[in-house]
Amino acid sequence: MSATFLGIPPFPEAARAAVNDSRLRHNLRKATHTIRDKRGAVVTELEEDWERLRSEGAAIKSHTLRHLDHYLEQLEAAVERAGGHVHWAADAAEANAIVTRLVRETGETDVVKVKSMATQEIELNDALAEAGITAYETDLAELIVQLGDDLPSHILVPAIHLGRSQIREIFLDQMAEWGVAAPEGLTDDPRALAEAARVHLRERFLRTRTAISGANFAVADSGTLVVLESEGNGRMCLTLPETLISVVGIEKIVPTWADLEVFLQTLPRSSTGERMNPYTSTWTGVTPGDGPQEFHLVLLDNGRTDVLADTVGRQALRCIRCSACLNTCPVYERTGGHAYGSVYPGPIGAILTPQLRGMSSEVDEALPYASSLCGACYEVCPVAIDIPEVLVHLREEVASGPGHLGEKAVMKGAEAVLGSSHALAAAQRAAGAARNLVPRHLPGMAGAWTDTRDLPGVPAESFRQWWNKHEKGQS
Ligand code: SF4
Repeated sequence: MSATFLGIPPFPEAARAAVNDSRLRHNLRKATHTIRDKRGAVVTELEEDWERLRSEGAAIKSHTLRHLDHYLEQLEAAVERAGGHVHWAADAAEANAIVTRLVRETGETDVVKVKSMATQEIELNDALAEAGITAYETDLAELIVQLGDDLPSHILVPAIHLGRSQIREIFLDQMAEWGVAAPEGLTDDPRALAEAARVHLRERFLRTRTAISGANFAVADSGTLVVLESEGNGRMCLTLPETLISVVGIEKIVPTWADLEVFLQTLPRSSTGERMNPYTSTWTGVTPGDGPQEFHLVLLDNGRTDVLADTVGRQALRCIRCSACLNTCPVYERTGGHAYGSVYPGPIGAILTPQLRGMSSEVDEALPYASSLCGACYEVCPVAIDIPEVLVHLREEVASGPGHLGEKAVMKGAEAVLGSSHALAAAQRAAGAARNLVPRHLPGMAGAWTDTRDLPGVPAESFRQWWNKHEKGQS
């Protein structure tokens, strides 16, 4: 079994604990600033081409989402033509049941995994464990999280919250339980840690006959799936096993191979700050005598068609999971990913998770507020998702639901005053007369707002009063 986000309190509470953890803040600041700076350099060198790529990426994704039914059917036909099998999963339970059945049919009880957000979203490892199947994560950061019985806290760098010495401890304590042990005397030198992981994983790759992956893109016209990665573990999983099962969200489609041209430039630059990622693996159905001879594609909905129905919120489905918005977000940098209570943390998590899961729980209802609305996420997004716009849209939804009585009463009062010039004038006169009674710091819960800023003073005279006295009299 693996750790779960269940039981993590709503964002304000979880964030409070996170910001008081100085080691966590140090790790996050160092890592996010390093990736952010690398991204800045490789994006700036493209000059105006970057904006062109950004709008082309957004246009391709928007077009595909508008015609998703057509492209999904095209993809299904192409994959089956190439010798693969396509399965449709409406939700997490259905996807897990399909994958479990397919693994059981192979007779295997071990599977290797390529890093995949979709399988984390549906908690596939837990479902497989319940069926007696052990899933071994092979991405370095995912391996660290799995060995540490921890939770991922970043889309691209799931162990971003951990420092080198913590990773060394995890390897020394846990690697032997899962396979090849870490070498004695392991240091926290990055090369030594990477080598320990390489030796540990190599043995696993060579003896596991079933693999599970996600995909960064699925090309509708050819039925090709695409995985971009940096370590080569994906390439091993996608080529060595006899059976490959790929769980892919339905929004991952692009219409043609040529469309990849845009994303193969924007994704590496936005995610790892590289011009090109080290490994790009593509596969189309099965090829006799080469790679897995059995290929299954599980197309996952799990709330995505509901998101598609929301004309403002649907832009979240354009996301290519680059994590640039996380690395630039001042809130994420201080809280880390666990506080979001979801496999999708940071700005994209704050708009995607509540749409996929609905906003019926306290955790999901709090997510659209996990932002200062500074807009940095929108500026860096390679597919121009207007995250602040969606956040405000979701806040409207939360505020119009049950509860929030205090906020609703204040808004009603504001509506009454601002909707009538007489009421506004009376309120301004009253405020002017009582200005000396207005405290510099608000009492109670509202005090948090004035802890770090002064409450603006009330002027002795409103603009309306000044106008009536000076300008109006002269005309
Ligand atoms: S919302 Fe944009 S910036 Fe954030 S992960 Fe998705 S594509 Fe990247």
